Amino acid sequence: MSKVNTSLSISNPHPHGSHWSEKLGVAVGSVGLLILAAALIGTDFSSKGMVLGVALLSLTAAPILFAYGKYNNTSPGIKNNGVWNRSLSSRGLLAWGIGVLLTSFYVVLYWYPTLLGQGGGEVANSGIIGLFDPLSMALKGKPASQWFVYGTLYTVAIIGLGAKFMYKYRHNRYQLLRTSSVILFQLGFAFLIPEILQGLNPDLAYFDMDAKNMWPLDYDFAHSWHLKNLLNGGNLGMFFLTLGVAKFLLISPILTYFYGKRWYCSWVCGCGGLAETAGDSFRQLSDKSLKAWKIERWMIYSVLVLVTIMTIASLYGFFTNSGTFLGLDIYKYFQKPYGFFIGAAFSGVVGVGFYPLLGNRVWCRFGCPMAGLLGLQQKFFSRFRITTNGGQCISCGNCSTYCEMGIDVRAYAQKGQNIVRASCVGCGVCSAVCPRGVLKLENGKIDLDQRTSELKSLHIR
Ligand code: SF4
Ligand code: SF4
Repeated sequence: MSKVNTSLSISNPHPHGSHWSEKLGVAVGSVGLLILAAALIGTDFSSKGMVLGVALLSLTAAPILFAYGKYNNTSPGIKNNGVWNRSLSSRGLLAWGIGVLLTSFYVVLYWYPTLLGQGGGEVANSGIIGLFDPLSMALKGKPASQWFVYGTLYTVAIIGLGAKFMYKYRHNRYQLLRTSSVILFQLGFAFLIPEILQGLNPDLAYFDMDAKNMWPLDYDFAHSWHLKNLLNGGNLGMFFLTLGVAKFLLISPILTYFYGKRWYCSWVCGCGGLAETAGDSFRQLSDKSLKAWKIERWMIYSVLVLVTIMTIASLYGFFTNSGTFLGLDIYKYFQKPYGFFIGAAFSGVVGVGFYPLLGNRVWCRFGCPMAGLLGLQQKFFSRFRITTNGGQCISCGNCSTYCEMGIDVRAYAQKGQNIVRASCVGCGVCSAVCPRGVLKLENGKIDLDQRTSELKSLHIR
C-alpha cells in the first residue's frame, strides 16, 4: 500500500517512491548487464558457465521483480498511468539512449561480430560470445556464434518481459494465453529444439530447424544451398522440407481463414513475440495518421513483391542449376540486396532498434512480407473481425492510443462498424483497454461476399 504523504511542503520533497521490488529489479538487472558489459570489454571469467548463469538469471528475474512491485498492489485493470510523461515511453532522452544502444547492437551483431568476440578457424571465441560458449557446448556441442548469443538474449527478453506483460494484463485471459504461447514458441520451437537437434545431428549441413518459421518471413527457405541441405539432410531434412511447404500452402491459409493473422503474428511469431513483450512500453507511439497508413500499404506490399521475385529467381536457379535469372546473377542482384536491406537492416536494425521512437511494430507494420500476405487473406478471406458496440463508446480513444498497428480503432467504434483491417494483428489490446467493453475479437461464421462489398462501399482498403 502506498504511504500517506505527511509533508507540508507545497513542492513535495518526498515524491511517490518506488516499491522495494522495483528497486530490487533494477539492481538485479544491473548485475546481468554489468556481467555482459565486462565480457564485452574482454574480461576473461574463470568459470564462465556459472557467470553466464548468473547473468541470464538476473536478466530474466529483473523484469519480474520490477513488475511485481509496480503492479501487484494495484486494483484490477490495465494501468498505463503516466505513459506520456515518462522519458522511456514518450520519446524522451531515455528512449533515445536505448534506441541508439539497440541500433548500435544490431549493426555490430550483423556486420562486425568480431567486436563481440566471434572467433573462427583456429581462433577461439572471446568477449561476450566466448562467455556463451559453455551453454552452446551443452546444447549442441559447438562453441557459440553471434546468432547463438542473439537467440539466447532474445529468448531471455521474451521470457522476462513476457512475465512483466502478464503481470500487467493479468486480469485479461486472452492476453495471458497468447503471451504464454509466444513464450513457449520462442523458448521451445525457436531456441531449444533447433539447438538440440543440431547437437544430435552434428554431421548435417545447416538448415533451418525452427518449425514455426515460414516463408516469406523465412526468406532464404528456397535458396539453392538451403534446399540442397534439406534434401541431403536425411529424414530430418525431409521433415522440415515437407513441413515448410505444408505450412505455406495448407496450414497457414487454414488457420488464417478461421482466426485471422493473429494466429501467427500475436501467438507464434518471434518478431511479434518480442514486439508484444519487450515492446509493450512503446505501443502507443505508432503513427495513426492517414499518411502513415498510405506509406504502410506501399511499403509492406512492395516488400512482399520483392521477396516473391527473389524467391522465383532462387527456385529458377535451383531447378535449372543456374547462377543467373534473366541474365542477372541471382546472389548478387536478388538474394544479397534482399538479405542486406530487408532481412538485416529493416527487420533488425530499424525493426527493433527503433522501438522506443516509432513503436513496437515498425517491422510488422511496414516491412514484414508475412504480415503482408496474411493481411491480404485476413481482409478478403477470413472470419476474423473486431465487432463494435458503438452505442457504448464514450470516445475516450484508449483503443486508438494503444493500437500498435496505428489503426484508428475509435473511428470504427464511434460508427459501430466492424473492424476488418489487413494490418490488425489481433493483439486484443484495444479491447483490453476499452473501459466500456465495446470491442470484441470474433471468429464466428460470416458471409465473406457481403463483407467484401461492405469494404468496397466504405472505401476501406
Ligand atoms: S486493432 Fe486492436 S487487435 Fe488489432 S492490432 Fe490494433 S490493438 Fe491489436
Ligand atoms: S476505448 Fe472503448 S470507449 Fe474508448 S473510444 Fe475506444 S471503443 Fe470507445
